[in-house]
Amino acid sequence: MDVSHILDSLNTEQREAVTADAGPLLIQAGAGSGKTRVLTHRIAWLNQVEGVSPFSILAVTFTNKAAGEMRTRVQELLNSSIGPMWVGTFHGLSHRFLRMHWKEAKLPQAFQILDSEDQKRMVQRSIRGLDLDETRWPPRTAMWYINAKKDEGLRPEHIRDEGDPTELQLIQIYKAYQTACDLAGAVDFAELLLRALETLRDNEELLQHYQQRFQHVLVDEFQDTNTIQYAWLRLLAGQHSSIFAVGDDDQSIYGWRGAKVENILNFSHDFPGTHVIRLERNYRSTGTILKAANSLIEYNSDRLGKNLWTDIGDGDPITFYSAYNEGDEANFVIERVMDHINTGGSRSETAILYRSNAQSRVLEEALFRSGLPYRVYGGMRFFERMEIKDALAYMRLMSLADDDISFERAVNQPPRGIGDKTLGQIRNAAREAGVSLWHASAEILAANALKGRASKAVGEFMKLIIKLRQETADMALDSMVEHIIEHSGLLEHYKKDRSDKGEARVENLQELVGAASTPPEVPDDMPDMTPLDAFLSNAALEAGENQGDEWEDCVQLMTLHSAKGLEFPVVFITGMEQGLFPSQRSIEESGKVEEERRLCYVGVTRAERKLYLTMAEHRRLYGKDHFSAPSKFISEIPSEHLQEIRPRMNVSRPMLQTPQRKAATVRDDNKTGLTVGQRVRHSKFGEGTVTDYEGQGAHARVFVNFESVGSKWLVMAYANLEVLSTA
Ligand code: ATP
Ligand code: MG
Repeated sequence: MDVSHILDSLNTEQREAVTADAGPLLIQAGAGSGKTRVLTHRIAWLNQVEGVSPFSILAVTFTNKAAGEMRTRVQELLNSSIGPMWVGTFHGLSHRFLRMHWKEAKLPQAFQILDSEDQKRMVQRSIRGLDLDETRWPPRTAMWYINAKKDEGLRPEHIRDEGDPTELQLIQIYKAYQTACDLAGAVDFAELLLRALETLRDNEELLQHYQQRFQHVLVDEFQDTNTIQYAWLRLLAGQHSSIFAVGDDDQSIYGWRGAKVENILNFSHDFPGTHVIRLERNYRSTGTILKAANSLIEYNSDRLGKNLWTDIGDGDPITFYSAYNEGDEANFVIERVMDHINTGGSRSETAILYRSNAQSRVLEEALFRSGLPYRVYGGMRFFERMEIKDALAYMRLMSLADDDISFERAVNQPPRGIGDKTLGQIRNAAREAGVSLWHASAEILAANALKGRASKAVGEFMKLIIKLRQETADMALDSMVEHIIEHSGLLEHYKKDRSDKGEARVENLQELVGAASTPPEVPDDMPDMTPLDAFLSNAALEAGENQGDEWEDCVQLMTLHSAKGLEFPVVFITGMEQGLFPSQRSIEESGKVEEERRLCYVGVTRAERKLYLTMAEHRRLYGKDHFSAPSKFISEIPSEHLQEIRPRMNVSRPMLQTPQRKAATVRDDNKTGLTVGQRVRHSKFGEGTVTDYEGQGAHARVFVNFESVGSKWLVMAYANLEVLSTA
């Protein structure tokens, strides 16, 4: 067989890895050295040369996007579909397993997946149910606690409280929450993994079946596996299977979520006879970008250490832009994206990265204004939007009446006049009898325990759900969705809201019908799954991946975390400010800055040809003003690789007009512009005197000495100053 297409484009070490004998293998190598490439080629090699059936191969990675790319790459190499091969994320594959073995997992067949918002509500309910003060026991904190314990594989009864009353209370919340989830047939993200692991562990037959089935287990981004993921891999790999792990300790960025980079160190010990391969040649980035990345990561002390090189050549210097504020930063980024497009590049070759999701809003607004199509990975996702979740709640409730989260959501959306008191009564009854809200409502109605109006409203709501279920039983999924949004009253409810937001919500609901017209495939090995259930699970799991049009050429927006494993010709890392990146929290806690630096290393090494680093001296974020110095990571990149852009021209031009971006000519026109000594008024800071100004166009700013708050630099484009007197 001609296998040249598999091996031709690999270097010696890569070939060694791809063609290695069965048995544990660890590839420990830096960014862009071809780890993912080796992994996909290994799959092709196993199948086409070693004759391993796709049925016996399991490959796992971290994000849906990476898993999708892995699938595509393997299909291209095999020139056929991946068939029964299991390729996905830890969550996706665990979900698949639980759907197939719901009985053994002690779940209802139509179990629902809770996303983080659902989970928070459920935790909140449990906290209230325990009569605890929510300000002392914030749901978010309890949720983090529960997830962290699940990620360590711990059930409430396994946790040692050491007599600590806080921990004791959190364990009680975990317990109450888990009982509520089990009752509602709901599974949170961490539970997917834990439940799959427990099911495998406790069912000898199942375990044997899967251990024999998966002769080859491959895992990408191994440095970010947490305790439970590693346990899952070890269990599946069993005694005989060969496990193929690729990772880079310098890119471990999920320590905050329990990832254990030590798994790399323990690997050889846990899998005796491990063959370790290192890859040192980087094929992705220019010499400049690689040198900057290498210098940066040298500041970390806890490293296995490696030496990455390239022969691509130095290329362009890295550009560092210090903007006046976040609007100026966004404009700078968009101008550079435009430059790239105007010189023949495509939008999808550009990626804008940021530390936290909230930073995307300003960038999105600027992109929207400039008419550039963009996609956001992660963040406020389509399936997480309010109206979409409302519609999904109806669908979930139709599929599983015991789904309490969906009950709570749908019961008063649109408003049906079911008051807090009535709901409280239902909740109490449910808690006391240990049944679902749906069940409790039915009993309360039967016992005539509600007042006339409340009783009627609850009864009608339940009838509506049953009616919707009957009416849509034989419909195709998209007709079903259309029917539901109409007859639930949701569409009408949102149509009443005549604002832009209301309009967008109606559009989103309509988009949901569109999404349902190409429902996800029901995998062959899950014939029992209804298209509705497949759709709902997909909505919870793949949220964010379906946003925008997948095939449209779009600027790519994402957090640094979700950029892992990806590459783009042009990369912007925004918000390079001390206190934002590295985050304030990480600066205050010892050892945490190293993880932030690895995150920066991940960001820098995403860039193939051109890297921009930007910051805003003044940023409004989470409703607060921040004035920041440049990130310390900037100073850790040798200055010979950095080109600093900072417009500081002292020019005077008509600044009270909306600045024109492309106004390149500097006009000496003092009559209409601001001058030193002029009195101005600002809506928030009050009156003051102009003492200096600089920059031009979109970057023009003015220094004003305000009576109330002292001197401030303001960006003309945003300041909206009123002129009180000429100087
Ligand atoms: P990361 O650590 O960021 O996940 P990685 O080690 O997985 O990176 P890949 O994404 O597999 O690296 O490869 C980086 C780039 O280099 C890809 O575009 C890949 O196609 C290319 N590449 C890898 N090996 C070779 C090779 N031998 N010849 C040509 N191109 C290669
Ligand atoms: Mg990779």
